[in-house]
Amino acid sequence: MDTKKNTCFSCELDRRTFLMASAGAIASLAAGGIFGSAHAAPPHTLPPLPYPENALEPVISARTIGFHYGKHHKGYMDNLNKLIPGSPYADMSLTDIIKKTAGHADQIGIFNNAAQVWNHTFYWQSLKPAGGGDPPAALKQKMIDAFGSVDACKKALADTTVSQFASGWGWLVLDHGKLKIVKTGNADVPFTKGMRPLITIDVWEHAYYLDYQNRRADYVTAILDKLINWEFALKNMG
Ligand code: FE
Repeated sequence: MDTKKNTCFSCELDRRTFLMASAGAIASLAAGGIFGSAHAAPPHTLPPLPYPENALEPVISARTIGFHYGKHHKGYMDNLNKLIPGSPYADMSLTDIIKKTAGHADQIGIFNNAAQVWNHTFYWQSLKPAGGGDPPAALKQKMIDAFGSVDACKKALADTTVSQFASGWGWLVLDHGKLKIVKTGNADVPFTKGMRPLITIDVWEHAYYLDYQNRRADYVTAILDKLINWEFALKNMG
């Protein structure tokens, strides 16, 4: 993860998620966790998980997290670090790489791996043990303003996320100050289109297939009821 100072929104998110993940890593290591050992080579390094691999059970198994974080997320990071040396992106922050390569077909490999690193770091923060429940008051009011009720917002987020065709992501975002729900395919991320991500749910099959097989809707519903980190969404509202 880069440590460059930058005032742009997505870079600030980058820095914030890194700091939060680092705090989680310290807690994990203090508890005998192993996440601090999963670093890739410089210049970009894999942020530690903010909780132990088994912390999201029974909704998401330690086995799923182990593969998802230790193989998939780490794989994107390793690929990125192989692709960027000697390129114009070698010394850029992760978010700058994503913004500079988005929409450029000849840079799709770098974009996909950089965006998937960012998306997964954001996804880990979007979940927490014993999550779900009532959103904080300020977020709750935004949900009511935009969707009529918290339940309607959650249903729209679930429906949109489940309906993503093939691999991708469901997102709660701020778009010009208003809450919206969007879905993106493959590695696409809303901040390249001017939207501020608040929370995400990964619906690539590697996120749920070991635990839910083809029951994507059950996985998404369980996340929203038991793991979603509304406080993280509120922090991202700024
Ligand atoms: Fe994933």
